[in-house]
Amino acid sequence: MNLSDIQKFTLTVNTTILALVLGLMGFFHVINVPFLVYFSIPTAMVYIIGYYLIHKGKLAFYARLVYFWLTFYMGVTTICLGYSYGFHLYCFSVVPTVFVAEYMGYKLRHRNFKAVPISFFVAIFYILCTGYVALNGPVFERDQKFAAFFWGANAIMVFGFLIGYLAYLVKLIINSEEQLVKAAHVDRLTGLYNRHYMLGYLESAADRKGGFAAMSDIDNFKRINDTYGHNGGDEVLRTVAETIKNVCGGCTVARWGGEEFLIVSEEDISEGQEMLERLRRTIESNPVSFEGQEIKVTITIGAASRRTEQTIDQWVQEADNRLYYGKNNGKNRVIVNE
Ligand code: GH3
Ligand code: MG
Ligand code: MG
Repeated sequence: MNLSDIQKFTLTVNTTILALVLGLMGFFHVINVPFLVYFSIPTAMVYIIGYYLIHKGKLAFYARLVYFWLTFYMGVTTICLGYSYGFHLYCFSVVPTVFVAEYMGYKLRHRNFKAVPISFFVAIFYILCTGYVALNGPVFERDQKFAAFFWGANAIMVFGFLIGYLAYLVKLIINSEEQLVKAAHVDRLTGLYNRHYMLGYLESAADRKGGFAAMSDIDNFKRINDTYGHNGGDEVLRTVAETIKNVCGGCTVARWGGEEFLIVSEEDISEGQEMLERLRRTIESNPVSFEGQEIKVTITIGAASRRTEQTIDQWVQEADNRLYYGKNNGKNRVIVNE
């Protein structure tokens, strides 16, 4: 959510509250409580001024003003009419929104909006107003025929809001956590896992018997960058990553470094060797298209079977040594035994 989204959302909230205030003003007139009709005038003014504050981007000031006045309004209506109308219940729905307002302030880098003192203010005011009514009864005793309706409607609104709002927030938190986990585990350029994820994966699979790891490195990649530019190099990286994913379907693949990819499979190397050869051939015979040019690409692969007496480092090192051997002996090769 950016500033303009928050402004639009706040405008909708402001208009909704203003409409409610005007509707209640009419109701206070019907039940003949002139004091609350007059009190609705400054209340409506607060929300009319609210439009100006939202428009000017003074959201922190707007939020403080609205929270203060809403709490005051709930207190005054409760003292005037008593509990039976259920206006005091709204205090409970104010508290979670105050904390979300602090969070939004944090997102917009306005960190001076503090939810805890405002929530304390709401709680203390609630206790004082309901305490007053408990001891003295409401100031205006009116026909109770509307009270049940208001009580029910207000209770449903408050619970409906709390349940819907908290369900929405939890969904938002889960989504954003999933995105963070993805961002922490996935390489942005290629969409493959990154080294950090792969190290965790290797640790978790350390006790498994069998399988192999294959370190693959694009040949003469520096020259590709020098000839076609960094964007050309990036396109080669993306295409090679895509080809590895397609050819090595059941494997776990990570971008290990700049132009190095680590392929880990649960299969035996005897079956894997044929797959790695197919991968090498596919990359060799499918040049990468970039800005109307064809970039010829080859890779060298060094593979090592998993032996449980090895540490993870030793296992990867063994694959790396074979890759090194392949690089020094002609490149564009798959080395399994050297
Ligand atoms: P060899 O055949 O021995 O592997 O030689 P090479 O040129 O492929 O290897 P070298 O290690 O000399 O060069 C790797 C280059 O990869 C150097 C670095 O600038 C480039 N590189 C690393 N990460 C990226 C990237 O994300 N995008 C692009 N375009 N280039 C990258
Ligand atoms: Mg290379
Ligand atoms: Mg390299």
